[in-house]
Amino acid sequence: METIHTIEWMKQIGREARAQDRILGLVPTMGALHEGHLSLIRAAQRECAPVVVSLFVNPKQFSPAEDLGKYPRTLEADRAALEAMGVDYLFAPSPQEMYPAGFRTSVVVEGLSDRLEGHSRPGHFRGVTTVVLKLFEIVQPRFAYFGRKDAQQVRLIRQMAADLNLDAGVVVCPIVREADGLALSSRNVYLKPEDRRAAAALSRSLAAVRDEIAEGERDAGRLLAALRRVLVAESRVALDYAEIVDAETLEPVAWLRGTCYVLLAAKVGDTRLIDNALIEPDGDSFRVTI
Ligand code: AMP
Repeated sequence: METIHTIEWMKQIGREARAQDRILGLVPTMGALHEGHLSLIRAAQRECAPVVVSLFVNPKQFSPAEDLGKYPRTLEADRAALEAMGVDYLFAPSPQEMYPAGFRTSVVVEGLSDRLEGHSRPGHFRGVTTVVLKLFEIVQPRFAYFGRKDAQQVRLIRQMAADLNLDAGVVVCPIVREADGLALSSRNVYLKPEDRRAAAALSRSLAAVRDEIAEGERDAGRLLAALRRVLVAESRVALDYAEIVDAETLEPVAWLRGTCYVLLAAKVGDTRLIDNALIEPDGDSFRVTI
């Protein structure tokens, strides 16, 4: 595996791959790699060669009050994991390389970026879409791989790719979870043992929604009440938001119809976590994927 630190060299690698008609796949990450990231890389390797994994803790998607400084950085372990998987290129630019002095441009997906995570974390998605567009321009991937764990992020990136006629196909991969249902996240290392136990309530609350839907419930208010009942029973969990939204518009629905997400964010102890479930029509009923 070759580690690349400069944008110019990364661009050159991308140009060469395209000149040889190779299908270049990109997996953007902020490092501290876990099985969730590795599942995206495996998906990329099934469909693409070469595969580029980018590792960049993007300062523009953290607000001043957030955890940029203490965000876990495990470059050597990450490099070893990628090497062992047979990844072709690790693109690990410095913040100065990505945002040199005088940098002034950003990309905003209007509307979709203000709600839910965007409401709780103002400016977050501006940072995300800006860095993803830069990565797409630098690497010029044929396909780029993202996790459904960040469902709103994927919806925004798809919108940006469509609106700006980007060539990269956006591929969405399932959520990888721990045995007790907790979605893998680089931030899980912040959880104290008692928080770690309590954090399983997030996926349990989604399972409660799934069970209510299986019983025939279609009213979003009642489904969310079932979700809240699970979370209030955990004193270490403080819900930020839980909504059932249309998968396209991300607007709340009153009654299940078409494809929806249950999206939630909560603080478990001091750690903010997100999770979601996908609800899809399935004949006369709905299939819920957690
Ligand atoms: P991050 O390093 O947190 O920016 O995540 C990089 C990519 O990995 C994003 O597309 C995430 O959605 C994805 N990802 C993070 N956690 C998981 C998970 N548990 N399962 C699947 N994908 C994930």
